[in-house]
Amino acid sequence: MYSRGFISGSDGNVSIRLAADRILSTPSGINKGFLAPSDMIVTDMGGKKLIGAHKPTTELRMHLETYRKRPDVKAVIHAHPPFTIAFSLAGQKLPQCVMPEIIMIFGSIPTTAYATPCTEEGPEAISALIEECDALIIERHGTLTVGDTVYGAYDKLEKVEHSAQVSATARQLGPVKPLSKEQIQKLLDLREQLGLKGKIYPCNQCGMCAPREGGTKADPLVNSLSAELFATLREKLRNG
Ligand SMILES: [Zn+2]
Repeated sequence: MYSRGFISGSDGNVSIRLAADRILSTPSGINKGFLAPSDMIVTDMGGKKLIGAHKPTTELRMHLETYRKRPDVKAVIHAHPPFTIAFSLAGQKLPQCVMPEIIMIFGSIPTTAYATPCTEEGPEAISALIEECDALIIERHGTLTVGDTVYGAYDKLEKVEHSAQVSATARQLGPVKPLSKEQIQKLLDLREQLGLKGKIYPCNQCGMCAPREGGTKADPLVNSLSAELFATLREKLRNG
């Protein structure tokens, strides 16, 4: 994370669920680029330190909230990747339904409401969303990604930031068009064939990258109406 520029200073934190009430995490206030194995700490699910010389990070609350909400999750990573944060500073969501592999891995990548870092607002802001997705953007702050291994959570962080970088570059070159309904359906079918795991978060643009696994399905009528609406809008834009 440090060498890829996804964090700076003592930003970011990584944790792993070792057992039901044991969380291994990076400590507060230490630059992750210079971290030694002996710097790591172990806490319980209440955030109380059990092993280690350093203090737990105040952002551990977001990790603990994630473990509470997602029994399937074994690792959580919070980082401050610059392109992704830039989108939220500009008040923009990452473009939806534009990159095939992002659709197959995430559906879309949601952004939380703003929360003051290092406070109770952090876990509150992510609490509901993290039940529905494996990667989210924390408004003006960074990302939270999860996995069944720490490498899985890291891969998602890298993917989110890469897509933000590509999207920012593409927008400088010209308008970014979403894929068509049919193209998206093919990707979702392929995802099923390949047996890709993880949550798919529906976008609010194409009206079709759902259903959410194990969650509430988007209303089919709303889906088809919004798909129709966006098709009409796209047609209008195309014809000037
Ligand atoms: Zn942070």
